[in-house]
Amino acid sequence: MSRVRADACPGVFAPHDAADGPLARVRLPGGAVTADRLRALASCAEEFGDGDVHLTSRANVQLRGVRRPGLAARLAEAGLLPSLSHERVRNVLASPLSGVRGGLADVRGLAATLDRELCARPELAQLPGRFLFGFDDGRGDVAGTDVCWRAVSSSTGVVLLAGVDSGWLVPRDEAVSALLTVAETFARDRGTAWRIGELPDRLALLPDGPRQPPQERPSRIDETVGRIPRDDGGEAIGVAPRFGRLTAAQLRTLAEFGDAVVTPWRSVLLPGGADVARLHAAGLSADPATAKLTACIGAPGCAKSLADIRADAAPLVADGMRVHVSGCARRCGRPSEAHRDVVAEPGGYRVDGRWTPASGLADAVARKGPS
Ligand code: SF4
Repeated sequence: MSRVRADACPGVFAPHDAADGPLARVRLPGGAVTADRLRALASCAEEFGDGDVHLTSRANVQLRGVRRPGLAARLAEAGLLPSLSHERVRNVLASPLSGVRGGLADVRGLAATLDRELCARPELAQLPGRFLFGFDDGRGDVAGTDVCWRAVSSSTGVVLLAGVDSGWLVPRDEAVSALLTVAETFARDRGTAWRIGELPDRLALLPDGPRQPPQERPSRIDETVGRIPRDDGGEAIGVAPRFGRLTAAQLRTLAEFGDAVVTPWRSVLLPGGADVARLHAAGLSADPATAKLTACIGAPGCAKSLADIRADAAPLVADGMRVHVSGCARRCGRPSEAHRDVVAEPGGYRVDGRWTPASGLADAVARKGPS
């Protein structure tokens, strides 16, 4: 694939020029965020943005309508901007339930280690902003990243390239350096590719050495919203902000319950548990169905949107299957897993390819099975 332009993934220093003002994306490697940083994000949203924090499908957060200077300094003070040169390439997913429930290995901490080492390597500042690292605890929920260490036991994993088993077995203790080795080769040899999946010979990214026969492994996404029994007998709580949007007050409520994990499904996990009544009082839902309905920002936040899709989507119910509503054919933020695809068109929507007027949207989405 040949491209003439650089990728335009936004950051703090390179905000996206949205219809509702500059949009700044703040990376949270592995989705991990301390209670202090939740409070810092709340203050930043109020002082510099539109007052809300928006969760992304890469477990990052965005501030919208950022018109006042000073955001970068405040984020850096809170430890949320550790590198000026690498901020747009700090894209790391990790299985959000790792160490809480299920999984073959505990991958907590690996994203933070990779983040530190990534920022210390000047050549990796040249990675495209779309390049994504992953640490999968064995369940396969973040296995579709560009380069991923996927556990096959508590101490060993296999390196996946664009979601495919490369046959390279790597101990957990060497997982970070293995992924960085692949990333360095990609940064050097990628040409105009943004993602590993675009390369004709992905295995050329691997160092020489013995390989196992590649294996197909099942993948599943476990529920991250609601009451989640922990393997140690305790209980974690997952909340699903409506359309992934958290007010500053809601962020401060979450911080009352300690450190949190932002998931790639626009939910927030509180591994230490929480008072659900207190969360409900703050308008935070612990209903898994809330997380299954997602939407891009739509109008008026995005000039490309053909409708105020969040208003149109508000009455929809995602009953079992995920539903993603987009304001145009770009389908920003759509989930990687199976979902009902709803896209605005002049005067109505296409639901899994079938046109419906806006007035018939709820019925079309509720229809079971393929359209
Ligand atoms: S899908 Fe279209 S309307 Fe929605 S945010 Fe992306 S570009 Fe804007």
